[in-house]
Amino acid sequence: MKGETISLSIRFSALCLLFVLPAPALGQEAAYDVLIRGGLVVDGSGETGIKADVAISAGRIVAVGKLTDATAAKVVDITDLVICPGFIDLHSHADRGILKSRSAENYVRQGVTTLVCGNCGSSPTDIEAFFTELKSGCGVNVTMLIGHGSVRQQVIGRLNVPPSAEQLEEMKRIVRRTMRAGAVGISTSLRYGPGAYADTDEIVELAREVAPFQGFYATHMRDEGTRMLEALEEALLVGQQASIPVHVSHHKISSASVFGLTRLSLDRITKARADGVDVTLDQYPYGAGSGGVSLYVPQASLSGGLEAFKRRIADPEKKDAILASVEELLVRKIYEAGQNPSNSDHTAIALSRIQLARAAHDEELEGKTLPEILRARGQAVTLSNGAELLVELVTHGVRGINHTLDDRPGGDVDRVMQFPLTSVASDGSVFEFGRGHPHPRSYGCYPRVLGRYVRERKLLSLEQAIHKMTELPARRLKWSDRGLIKVGHWADLTILDPRIIADKATFADPHQHSVGVKHVMIQGQFVLKDGRMTGELPGQPVGLGKEQ
Ligand SMILES: [Zn+2]
Repeated sequence: MKGETISLSIRFSALCLLFVLPAPALGQEAAYDVLIRGGLVVDGSGETGIKADVAISAGRIVAVGKLTDATAAKVVDITDLVICPGFIDLHSHADRGILKSRSAENYVRQGVTTLVCGNCGSSPTDIEAFFTELKSGCGVNVTMLIGHGSVRQQVIGRLNVPPSAEQLEEMKRIVRRTMRAGAVGISTSLRYGPGAYADTDEIVELAREVAPFQGFYATHMRDEGTRMLEALEEALLVGQQASIPVHVSHHKISSASVFGLTRLSLDRITKARADGVDVTLDQYPYGAGSGGVSLYVPQASLSGGLEAFKRRIADPEKKDAILASVEELLVRKIYEAGQNPSNSDHTAIALSRIQLARAAHDEELEGKTLPEILRARGQAVTLSNGAELLVELVTHGVRGINHTLDDRPGGDVDRVMQFPLTSVASDGSVFEFGRGHPHPRSYGCYPRVLGRYVRERKLLSLEQAIHKMTELPARRLKWSDRGLIKVGHWADLTILDPRIIADKATFADPHQHSVGVKHVMIQGQFVLKDGRMTGELPGQPVGLGKEQ
């Protein structure tokens, strides 16, 4: 089936509905390629699981039920385990990582079988070449959003200016071309540059190019703090004006003063749905986000890229202005947490919420918090030293982990998770094992939901959680042949032990694989068997790739 998945997958599924083989007579050769016996089938729809066997041939699910007399080339007994569709991660940043580490082991061991790359405005702009390269195989299927920020950067550079008419046409042309090549929609990050330099009209113009391909608009909204509701209105407006579905990425509140604001945003989304707007969202299950530490400096100071930023801070007057605004932001964060910026303990708490994830210039710093770095340098933990350090880290393109979300019981993380339209999504990437200090979500996102939020806290049922990992994201992608255990669907399957599934990766020690996923199958081939990576790479680029 290699290579055919992009264009044929949807039409082919209709044919496969008829493709149910009868049980073979004695002495006949094996009827199915693989028969998975005795598991609890949690089919992805959210319905209660049932005990059933699942038969697979030619990469597809061909029968589900009591197949007592059936034979197969391979029979796998999974008594006491759960079989469900492979997880579809709507929010991955693995565009580069997957090319280096094809097996995507950190995702496979979570039960993920499809990654949607190109989120938060960042993607390759030559999606044809990306897909062509991936056709030689991966441990997961991969699909792609075209990143607005990357398109903008290619045409305009990292400049805080609007596009000229010609530049806008060129950006539209790139978006059209990538949609034709198989992208499933367009993504933005309006919080940080170069996406932050775009106004709403520019986004609408580009999003319109996605409509004929039935793509969707995924957005890291312009604000996830005090102005989040305005940002949500902007996202809904883009969808309305471009006539495409809207998907809010990693929905969260990162300002302590407005913890609880998700009550209003989820109400607003419910109302929009009632008015006929196709809007959905996703979330990772942690109390911290991750991104460039450049989030802490004014985005205008980054216009022109890092070299331009370095030139600005070489000018003492400009540097003072940048430092002042970083300090102001830190002070605001302290007030928002109900604390006092003139209290040195409170300052230390605020600065310790910033931990370094990737610091290519000095790997010793990875995993450390700002106060730890300052103390190691013999500096006092003050606001001005913190601001100075942040500006220095920005010049090195450092990524941070920000411990600023409310994951206490009943807080925003719980509330967003329980909302019926929220898919689970990692916001992570494929990493070389042991390299850097990434946010643990890349290793633990899905098992964390199933272990901590389902088994321990009982916030969701197993069926609800699996629905958020399978059919719900498949619907967002308008895929009708993945995301369910159903005859005709591709056999992307995850077999797990709900009694032990758990994330192991922590903020202190992130490079730890999750436990509890026993087998994973992509298009009928095992990539994980009995807890071991098989080395097979059946994963392919998948997408829409056609005008409707
Ligand atoms: Zn983002």
